[in-house]
Amino acid sequence: MSEPPSERSEELLLDPFGTTIIKDYEKLYKEFGIEPLKPLLPRIKNPFMAMRRGVIFGHRDFEKIVECMEKNEKFAVLSGIKPTGEFHLGTLMTAREIIYFQQQGADTFYCIADIEAYEDNRIPFEKSEKYAVGNIADVLALGLDPKKAYIYRQSKENHVKDLAIIFGRAVTLATMKAIYGERHMGLYLSALIQVGDILLPQLRDFGGPKPTIVPVGVDQDPHLRLSRDIAQKFRRKYGFESPSATYHKIIKGLDGSPKMSKRSPMSYFTLDEKPETIANKISNAFTGGRPTIKEQREKGGIPEICPVYEIDVFHFVEDDKEVAKTYHDCKAGKLLCGEHKKRTIEYVLKFVKGHRKKRRKYIDKAREILNVE
Ligand code: SF4
Repeated sequence: MSEPPSERSEELLLDPFGTTIIKDYEKLYKEFGIEPLKPLLPRIKNPFMAMRRGVIFGHRDFEKIVECMEKNEKFAVLSGIKPTGEFHLGTLMTAREIIYFQQQGADTFYCIADIEAYEDNRIPFEKSEKYAVGNIADVLALGLDPKKAYIYRQSKENHVKDLAIIFGRAVTLATMKAIYGERHMGLYLSALIQVGDILLPQLRDFGGPKPTIVPVGVDQDPHLRLSRDIAQKFRRKYGFESPSATYHKIIKGLDGSPKMSKRSPMSYFTLDEKPETIANKISNAFTGGRPTIKEQREKGGIPEICPVYEIDVFHFVEDDKEVAKTYHDCKAGKLLCGEHKKRTIEYVLKFVKGHRKKRRKYIDKAREILNVE
């Protein structure tokens, strides 16, 4: 199967349905027209932890949303999570981003991307429904206010499916191939469904046109570009505004791979795994450490390539000063990998324990929201 031709490179490949390679995030600014987030940070009153640390590093048209936050004007947030399993560190980031924007006043849309899970991951709908219940309990436990959010399944939301059918007339096969490479029709269909999701908050039934932020991993950028293009084509008919996006970095696999992946169980953990298994995976993680303690003391480690450091930075260390100290101590050879892993395991397990306790209380609510037995 061919890769998207316009996005193929040895060092840079964004493919929401396959492999994403990013050796240098800076290149995304030049080659894909993504804007750096940093210049907007001083205008954000209460930036999300991942924004302050450069984990959310880029955007398209985010200034519009910053203006809404500054002036207390109406905007929406929408993002989707595929119900392909229990929450892991990638989905945790997206969930936290949705919650952050909800807390900043956004009309909130949480999409359960079950059509994409079916087309991309071959997860039958009966199975994805079970995962979706757990995922919704997770996001409620993390702080999403269900009273102020529209939580829906793609497969049950007729507006989204209708939009996909309408948009299909405005997109040629050549365009889909140029964006996504040669794929089976189901993936093209699921891409159009996602455009329907992204533009859903702007339909009259949902309050009409408004700025909409879509916080996602940067591998999803092709969907955003297609959505922005389609929004323009249908502006006259629906009054759509081009959707905005923020992009987070892709967290490295614990085994040193560029991305946590279900294909390699040692590269990731879910919030549902046994504490011993999580601890074992972190203990055995690849690091940016040196082959010997002596060498590490002399030369220092390389936190830039270290997934253990990323676990702290992306999610589990609240205090920015502590993150900075870890970076400098690693560089200076004052911190050793064993010691650091032990500390990270403690943070992760403390979070997981507290989260599971809260999550249990939300299972019934999740079933109620999804209307399942
Ligand atoms: S000390 Fe920590 S940050 Fe540095 S390489 Fe080792 S595990 Fe990674």
